Amino acid sequence: MNKGLPGDCLFCRIVRGEIPSQKIFENKELLAFKDISPRAPIHIIVIPKKHINSLSDAKKKDNALLGRIQLAVPEIAKKLLGENSSYRVVTNCGKEAGQSVPHLHYHLLAGRIFTWPPG
Ligand code: 5GP
Ligand code: ZN
Repeated sequence: MNKGLPGDCLFCRIVRGEIPSQKIFENKELLAFKDISPRAPIHIIVIPKKHINSLSDAKKKDNALLGRIQLAVPEIAKKLLGENSSYRVVTNCGKEAGQSVPHLHYHLLAGRIFTWPPG
């Protein structure tokens, strides 16, 4: 796994518009777009535009950014699903946990029944 040279990073390239994406939400520090290979009827990827490899690599200085991204996820969910809907939020940290893109991202999944524990 590329340990995050922003120049090569897939999600950094999406942020820069070098790779097209179906954007759902954007502001100066966050971007949300449809997953290319959806695992549920609604599958959105929410990222900070700043490159951070994963939640494991977030620093104290990222505290406010992490707060804002976590608050953005339910806002996006409400817009897509309405109030009081169920959805799952996942961030995979590391290869063995299922992380394939080493740029911090939250999966917002909805539109079907989810089982627990995840596979
Ligand atoms: P991870 O496996 O790292 O937790 O999640 C990465 C996600 O990015 C996967 O669900 C994968 O389908 C998605 N993905 C990979 N490449 C692209 C791409 O080029 N465009 C979009 N929109 N999603 C991608
Ligand atoms: Zn990146």
